[in-house]
Amino acid sequence: MSVPTTAADAGRVVTVAIDGPAGSGKSSVSKQAARRVGYGYLDTGAAYRALAWHVLDRGADTDDEGAVRQAATDFPYAISLDPDDYWVRVGDVDVTDAIREPRVSSAVSGVARVPAVRARVNDLFRALVAASGRPGVIVEGRDITTVVAPDAPVRILLTAAPEVRAARRSAEMTGHDAASVADALHRRDAADSKVVDFLTAAPGVTVVDSTDLDFAQTVEAVLDVISAGTGAPDGR
Ligand code: C5P
Repeated sequence: MSVPTTAADAGRVVTVAIDGPAGSGKSSVSKQAARRVGYGYLDTGAAYRALAWHVLDRGADTDDEGAVRQAATDFPYAISLDPDDYWVRVGDVDVTDAIREPRVSSAVSGVARVPAVRARVNDLFRALVAASGRPGVIVEGRDITTVVAPDAPVRILLTAAPEVRAARRSAEMTGHDAASVADALHRRDAADSKVVDFLTAAPGVTVVDSTDLDFAQTVEAVLDVISAGTGAPDGR
């Protein structure tokens, strides 16, 4: 048996759920693992980021729940599930880079704590997976293993020690000083963990701790869990 390689083989799209905190490496690891098994890749944080960008673009503040709910009713969001051609759009605007700016990162927890927003984007995530045309999709975020896809055959919590996560994020953010990057990351984790517990594994979720692993080793560790959950070996 092997990892399903066509949607027809699978009968339905296989969901691989990966959760973890900021700086755990889950986006880059999920993207690379998706390439290796020929699955789609869905970055769920991008929807929250794009909505935060949309709220700011309308001149509003994400602390204003009414403004967030209003912006969510008129939110023409689109995202690519292709790990080799990743883009995020709001209407005609390509926001792929803009949603990574620090002003969006610091505003995003304001939209993520609104229950109506979460319900809406979760439905969207499930629809995107179902319509992906891929045999499987690696879906990464904070509540994928617990809320979005609790029945997924593969569920992983990707963790790393806080200082390692801060160092990785600061290496990505060239031009920003390390202390303020670490501070922003820890503040966002603290705000986010009031909404979703993404630091402890729910029952049945496999922990991959990347503290002492490099990127390639982390990808291998994740692929091993995928193989085990979908019926190893995979097509590597
Ligand atoms: O993964 P990323 O850091 O891009 O996520 C951005 C933000 O989106 C998080 O800080 C969190 O507020 C929110 N988020 C969430 N649930 C998810 C994915 C992201 O609340 N499944």
